[in-house]
Amino acid sequence: MTAERDPLVIDTSKPHPARVYDWLLGGKDNYLVDQELGQKLPAAARANAARNRAFMHRAAAWLAHQGIDQFLDIGTGIPTEPNLHQIVQAITPSARIAYADNDPIVLRHAEALLVSTPDGATTYIQADVREPQDILEHARGFLDFRRPVALSLIALMHFITDEEDPYALTRTLVDALPPGSFLMFSHGTADEHPELEKSVSTAYKEGQVPLRMRTRAEVARFFDGLDLVEPGLVSATDWHQEGPAPARERSGFYVGVARVP
Ligand code: SAH
Repeated sequence: MTAERDPLVIDTSKPHPARVYDWLLGGKDNYLVDQELGQKLPAAARANAARNRAFMHRAAAWLAHQGIDQFLDIGTGIPTEPNLHQIVQAITPSARIAYADNDPIVLRHAEALLVSTPDGATTYIQADVREPQDILEHARGFLDFRRPVALSLIALMHFITDEEDPYALTRTLVDALPPGSFLMFSHGTADEHPELEKSVSTAYKEGQVPLRMRTRAEVARFFDGLDLVEPGLVSATDWHQEGPAPARERSGFYVGVARVP
């Protein structure tokens, strides 16, 4: 069966974001087409992927320390240790984490996401963020939406084009969360690397992967109506509520954590 007929078949004829990101992080779950795209990216892309991942770790730990014990992580990516639930459950063993991604390769590796602590639980939803109601419906069966939930959209929304309205999608998801919930968010930008914008866009375009890097003002809009926690909307390496501050370097990602009022 071809990938076009069955969305669960892994298509190795064109690159996929999850597999390119896996390659950037030094993983093995990627194919020649993904490596070829990755090799066309500027050298900074590998360090920046690691900086984004490290932000996810720090933000998840900080939220767990705030008492958040339920997470909905959309655009999970191919499992790379430590995964979000490992960070959170090391602090709160009873935490529950729902993962969602639309790439069949993530489904294929989902087993690694499902090894939970005995007191907590994890689940995996094969779903597309462009159908947020589907994700919410599944998540409601697993998380208690009467209590705060952290919604994690890390390095996801730059794969959503303007026509697909990433702001409305984010709003739909955030509106489902009770007060006291949080959004943890990161998004690729060319603001810090204007000289590299063209090579990044061209590499993804040639691979037929839609990529829409956004400016600081465009990323700030994702937080409309929410209360950004310190230090606000910053480059990934500047966000360090938890643990020692990393070296302040450009990261190619804007990140933020915000509270739902
Ligand atoms: N959040 C992880 C992985 C980021 S890579 C991290 O930051 O470490 C981006 C992930 O988003 C990939 O796994 C890709 O498959 C997923 N993704 C891209 N478009 C998506 C969509 N429309 N719906 C759900 N997931 C999507």
